[in-house]
Amino acid sequence: MTDFQVTILGNGSAVPTAFQNPTAQLLRYNQHKFLIDCGEGTQMQMIKYQVTHKNLSHIFISHLHGDHYFGLIGMISTFHLFGRELPLHIYGPGPLEQIIKMQLKASDTRLKFSLLFHALRDTETLFEDKHLKISCFPLYHKTPTWGFLFREKGKERNLRKNFVAHYTPGIEQMHRIKQGDDFILSDGTVLKNADITLNPSIPKSYAYCSDTAYDERLIPFVRSVDLLYHEATFDNNMTVIAAEKFHSTARQAARLAAKAGVKQLLLGHFSARFSEPSHLLEEAREVFENTLLSRQGETYVL
Ligand SMILES: [Zn+2]
Repeated sequence: MTDFQVTILGNGSAVPTAFQNPTAQLLRYNQHKFLIDCGEGTQMQMIKYQVTHKNLSHIFISHLHGDHYFGLIGMISTFHLFGRELPLHIYGPGPLEQIIKMQLKASDTRLKFSLLFHALRDTETLFEDKHLKISCFPLYHKTPTWGFLFREKGKERNLRKNFVAHYTPGIEQMHRIKQGDDFILSDGTVLKNADITLNPSIPKSYAYCSDTAYDERLIPFVRSVDLLYHEATFDNNMTVIAAEKFHSTARQAARLAAKAGVKQLLLGHFSARFSEPSHLLEEAREVFENTLLSRQGETYVL
C-alpha cells in the first residue's frame, strides 16, 4: 500500500496571525519526505504537529517572497545543530543559493552536511525514481514563481497469490508477468496474464499552485490531478485587488480546477484579513463542488 499524503504546516498569506502560519507543506511518499515552501516558523509547526525531519532530503521553494522561504535558514541551522549528515537538496529561484550562503557565512557556520542548490528553470523534472516524478512549471506572480507537480508512475500488475503458490514462478518470470506477459507451462499450456494477475492501483498525482494569478496556462500542467492545492488569497469582492497583486480569489481557483478536470481542490494561502475563511469555501463550491479548505495540521491522503 502506497503512502502518499500531504500535511499542511502553514496556509496563510504574507502576514502571519495567531491562527495562520505562512506557507509550508510536507509531502510524504513512502519513505520520502519533501518540504514544499518554508515560511517563517515552519520548523515550529513541524514540532507542533509532530512531523519529524527524518528522511527529509528535498525542499522546494516556489518563489522568493518571504512568506515562502524565511523559515529556511532557521531550519538549516537546526539540522546543523542536530549533527545532520544526510545531504539536503534545495530547489528554488537562482538567487536563493546566494542568500542562504551569505547567512551561513556571516555567522561562520560550516555545515556538516552538503547543501545542494538547484536553480529552477521554466519546466523541468526535479526528482525521479522508480515510483515518483516531481516537476516544476511556471506560475504567474509578481516575481518568478513555480508550481510543483508530484506524479506517481504507472504501477506493475499484481500477481494472484494462488497462482504464485501453485506454479512457483521464478523471480525473472514474476517480473515479466508483472509487466504483462503470459505464463507458459512446460506442456505448452498458456496461462493468460489477465487470469494470473490483478490490476494495479491507479497512479495518483498532486499539484501545488501558490502564489499565482488566475491563469489558464496552468491547465495543461495540472490537468486531471487527484488533488490540486491552489491559492485563494481573496474573496469575490476582491477580484480587482487579486489581479493587481497577482493572486487569486477562491472562485478563480475553483474555475481553474473545473477547467482542468481535477478530482479535488484544496484552497489555501488565505489573506490575514479572514479570521475564518469559510465563506471562501462557499464561493468556490458554487463553481467546483469537490473543494476543501486546507487546515493547518491536517493531512490529506491521496
Ligand atoms: Zn505568498
